[in-house]
Amino acid sequence: MANIILTGDRPTGRLHIGHYVGSLRRRVELQNSGLFDRIYIMIADAQALTDNADNPQKVRENILEVALDYLSAGLDPDKVCIFIQSQVSELTELTFFYNNLVTIQRLQRNPTVKSEIQMRGFNADEEADNKAGIPVGFFCYPISQAADITAFKANVVPAGEDQKPMVEQTREIVRKFNSTYGPVLVEPEILLPDSHACQRLPGTDGKAKMSKSLGNCIYLSDSAEEVAAKVKGMFTDPNHLQVSDPGNVEVNTVFTYLDAFCRDEHFEKFASCFVGRKSSFTFHNLDEAKAQYRAGGLGDMMLKNFLTAILNDTLEPIRQRRKELEKNIPYVYEVLRKGSEQACQTAAQTLKEVKAAMKINYFDQGVLDELIAAQTAKYNG
Ligand code: ATP
Ligand code: MG
Repeated sequence: MANIILTGDRPTGRLHIGHYVGSLRRRVELQNSGLFDRIYIMIADAQALTDNADNPQKVRENILEVALDYLSAGLDPDKVCIFIQSQVSELTELTFFYNNLVTIQRLQRNPTVKSEIQMRGFNADEEADNKAGIPVGFFCYPISQAADITAFKANVVPAGEDQKPMVEQTREIVRKFNSTYGPVLVEPEILLPDSHACQRLPGTDGKAKMSKSLGNCIYLSDSAEEVAAKVKGMFTDPNHLQVSDPGNVEVNTVFTYLDAFCRDEHFEKFASCFVGRKSSFTFHNLDEAKAQYRAGGLGDMMLKNFLTAILNDTLEPIRQRRKELEKNIPYVYEVLRKGSEQACQTAAQTLKEVKAAMKINYFDQGVLDELIAAQTAKYNG
């Protein structure tokens, strides 16, 4: 079986560091690993419209932003196919057929859809308190995601933890389809980041998942000053009032970010962050810093300066590449146009197989002759 990846992002804003640790960083590694036959990266504009139907301009503009972020982060169009979801109309057709294989009750149980409905303020009882109801397209987007994954026969979906229920839903659809119509589709596996922090990076507010829709993000394209200001405003342990107080590293967003971004060599590279007027420390790894924080004496400012240094060190090459790419917008659109063309070809082939399995390929070569022969025999003996 071929090794194929499908993954993507909604063009609802620029990409943030949650995307980077949750998916993007891994994608670049996988692209360069040589282990995959094909890699498809989708900009999910049709999905973005399911909860942004009244704001098509936002979605349109963010397609370019996401594409710029991809290329700046190191995705290489010679190795991966980057495409725009809405340009592959086969995906809509597949969704329509898969709709028959899923119940409303099953969709209602999807925990990610549930929490996203809440986050967006959609209400099941729209008349009760004057809130917007749940758009059907939004409610059904796990089915359209199954179409996206299966159209490319992807067996691996690198994504953050919130996508687990989506991939599970896809697996169910594949099993149902294959057992009803024949073995056409491939059952995918989610590929989660290794560490808990990377699977669901919290927002700078420390509360929910970092998410474009919540305005709690550090963006890949933020300037060094913006990153510093956002880190400065982050919550740490609310009970760590005095530097000398023992601190908690578990419910502490700064440490969660350090878990996601910090490598041992950063302690040598940014040792100066831990040299202060009143106290100085030498750490070799994050465990040592955590132990000191727990014991007391290590201040939040030192930690925040260290985190800022690491983030800016990680983001600087991405920012530089973005600046170059921003000078060549036609190139970026050409990448998307070519990728979308290529994606259409693959999806069309899968759709053809799906239609044949579902016996709705009446006019395919050879099929019509058989149909005519059978129906003629039925009516004319
Ligand atoms: P939106 O608010 O519009 O849903 P988003 O920020 O949640 O945007 P998506 O485009 O929905 O981003 O997600 C794209 C990919 O990034 C998915 O694989 C998702 O799991 C991953 N991802 C998004 N946010 C995070 C996060 N905070 N931590 C880890 N992975 C994330
Ligand atoms: Mg999301």
